[in-house]
Amino acid sequence: MSLPLEREQIQHLTEELEVIIAAHLAWFKQLNRTLVCGGSINRTDLAEDAHLRSPFGQWYHSRDPHPLGENADFQDLGITQQAMHAAARLALLEVMDQRRPGAALYDQCIDLALRLNTTLRRIQLETIGELLTTDSLTGCASRRGMLNRLREEQERAMRIQRPCCLCLLDFDRFKRINDELGHPAGDAVLRQGMKFVTGSLRKYDSIYRYGGEEFLVCLPGNPMKDAALVVERIREGLEHLPIRLPSGETCHVTASFGLAELDQRRPVEESIAWADMALIRAKENGRNRVEIWTGG
Ligand code: GH3
Ligand code: MG
Ligand code: MG
Repeated sequence: MSLPLEREQIQHLTEELEVIIAAHLAWFKQLNRTLVCGGSINRTDLAEDAHLRSPFGQWYHSRDPHPLGENADFQDLGITQQAMHAAARLALLEVMDQRRPGAALYDQCIDLALRLNTTLRRIQLETIGELLTTDSLTGCASRRGMLNRLREEQERAMRIQRPCCLCLLDFDRFKRINDELGHPAGDAVLRQGMKFVTGSLRKYDSIYRYGGEEFLVCLPGNPMKDAALVVERIREGLEHLPIRLPSGETCHVTASFGLAELDQRRPVEESIAWADMALIRAKENGRNRVEIWTGG
């Protein structure tokens, strides 16, 4: 899905969807009972704007733009729900007039209600998937699924005949930050540092928490010299970034970077290993610098 949202927003949406699904199922059960057994009819369901009054309607129309607005299924939800309420209204009017709704109308109600439920669940599965594949501290993608996504980038690079670069970023002397300022300070550095790095990347770049205080950036569509400029800018920006610590104090950190081209014909893991060699060289050569793997 890759929603352009913060992790907390995705978490919140996942919970909202659970509430909406439960409300929809309760409504559906009540509707079915009325259609089959008769009994009291909810006046709201007879209103022409019933679709706006339901919990779903309020949730769906409450924000403009809606945080899920870019999701492919989201538009479908609105159309399905409005059609479902229109069909339910007609069926309930039949019941009010002591008639049974026709089979086609009943089927329409049921099919649309089930479709709404399925689509809501599918979107929720996507938000949960997004949570499972992002790191809770930094919001970067986690390592889970990273290799598959890099293989996709590799195939794309081959298809469009454009180079793609990989960069490993490792914070310098990070153990010392933890030891001297405390673990919560280390967490603050990772959170704010990576917010800066992520904000410095372009739309098609991707970033993964590779391990501890080490991150992997994928820079598609660029020859090495352009990727190196992007990374050098990030290195410099990070060096000057004031980081607010839990104590209220400010600190500065640096990171080292190892760049390698993503080889289009060899396993992705090999290119990562080359970026790692370059990173080791950046550490050996004094840290707070970018090194490029040129082979050998
Ligand atoms: P170098 O410049 O050579 O990379 O030195 P370093 O101290 O950064 O490297 P080292 O591998 O010795 O230490 C990394 C430290 O990062 C150790 C680990 O406890 C810490 N770390 C890893 N993940 C987290 C995290 O999520 N939060 C905090 N606060 N610390 C973390
Ligand atoms: Mg380090
Ligand atoms: Mg490290």
